[in-house]
Amino acid sequence: MTPGRRRALGVAGVVLVGVAGTFAWLFQDMTLPQGERIEAIDGVVGVETSGSFAWIVPAGDGVVLVDAGADPDAEALLAELGRQGRDAGDVRAVLLTHAHGDHTGGLRQFPQAEIWIGADDVALLRKERTPIGWIPRMMAPLFDAPVPDNPLEEFADGDTHTVAGLTVKGTAVPGHTLGSMAWQVGDLLFTGDALVAARDGVTVLFAWIADAPERQVPSVRRLVGVEAAMMADGHFGLTPEPADAIDRFLAARQ
Ligand SMILES: [Zn+2]
Repeated sequence: MTPGRRRALGVAGVVLVGVAGTFAWLFQDMTLPQGERIEAIDGVVGVETSGSFAWIVPAGDGVVLVDAGADPDAEALLAELGRQGRDAGDVRAVLLTHAHGDHTGGLRQFPQAEIWIGADDVALLRKERTPIGWIPRMMAPLFDAPVPDNPLEEFADGDTHTVAGLTVKGTAVPGHTLGSMAWQVGDLLFTGDALVAARDGVTVLFAWIADAPERQVPSVRRLVGVEAAMMADGHFGLTPEPADAIDRFLAARQ
């Protein structure tokens, strides 16, 4: 990526996050991103990558990523891996919460990592379809990374798989994208953009960035009673006790 293009992407990202953040602050119960580097639990670290979070999860002698960030050079991710005494070759797998470009941009830096993805987002990742939400559709040309040719594994709703030695349960949470997944790894629930931290708990993102907005709240119902100590999302950060926060979110919508 040329410096000019990189700058354009950065500016677009900042504008998008700024506009969305302002709307969120005014009209929804949203919060602001919690920082550039977030330490969660169990050694998991969140890294802010040009507007979205990617999460580094220790996995045996390597790591698993939850999403790969917006930055095609994955600079912040590689810097954090370096801080941990690791490099790109230590990334065994990437669990994609969904296939929007601001979560898949860094994939090309980890060509050996197997990608795990919800079955209904494979076409989006392969650019065989465009996003339906008008903002992601408008932004899609900016995220012009080539389709990754990593080994690809589809994750079906409710399945549990061993990924690089980690036990991972995937729950389909369609709405933000058709194939959005929530990943549970140990005590952490990774929700991407399907459910995010709010000022007083959790909320869903705007209808106009969603593939199927009417499916967002029903998908949150699929996470009721989740046994996780912490939720980690794709743009804001951590939410403690997600099961309680989900109950409050749903109670307010009855
Ligand atoms: Zn998204």
